[in-house]
Amino acid sequence: MRTLIDAERLQARISDMALEIDSYYRGQDWYRMTQEPVVVIGVLAGAMFFMADLVRKLSIRTKLDFTRMSTYSGKATTVQQPKIICPPASRLHDAHILLIDDILDTGRTIGVLRTHLAWPYPEDVKTAVLLRKSDKVPYDVKADFIGFDIPDEWVVGYGLDYNGLYRELPYVAVWSGDESGQDQSKS
Ligand code: 5GP
Ligand code: MG
Repeated sequence: MRTLIDAERLQARISDMALEIDSYYRGQDWYRMTQEPVVVIGVLAGAMFFMADLVRKLSIRTKLDFTRMSTYSGKATTVQQPKIICPPASRLHDAHILLIDDILDTGRTIGVLRTHLAWPYPEDVKTAVLLRKSDKVPYDVKADFIGFDIPDEWVVGYGLDYNGLYRELPYVAVWSGDESGQDQSKS
């Protein structure tokens, strides 16, 4: 497996993203006037480490929530329409939402979530993704805050998996294994 983004670069960029996100919200009149917390919704399980590190670097007020989607159903590259398996528990009416996902690939996941969250009418929805496969994203699907643009290869680590494996790696690596999940470059 080849390291694409090491732990140090991840943390440095996430610190910068936290500054960008802080300054965006601190620049909003509603935030200045009400100090109402931003409802940060992470997509499990891929976004878990990114979200955990990001929210601890933010200085704005937040409430944390989670949602779970079915996307690749364990297999590496089978593309299906993602479904919301477990919706966020928070009251989203009038909320200011920041959606957190690990990676923006085809944009389907964020598209489905945005559509779902559009009811019952949150005040606004922003999105932050750690990674973006820039070659593939149709230009009308955008994320507001993006960590790194990466090439169109299957990546694992820092929350991202191959068949459930490798989420715990503290860095992002390009997957180079076989269908069984064995890493060919290790043996
Ligand atoms: P999209 O819906 O934008 O096509 O894909 C987003 C989701 O697909 C991500 O939340 C992630 O779960 C999964 N995904 C896309 N590319 C990769 C990848 O290279 N590695 C892993 N582990 N997951 C990916
Ligand atoms: Mg995902």
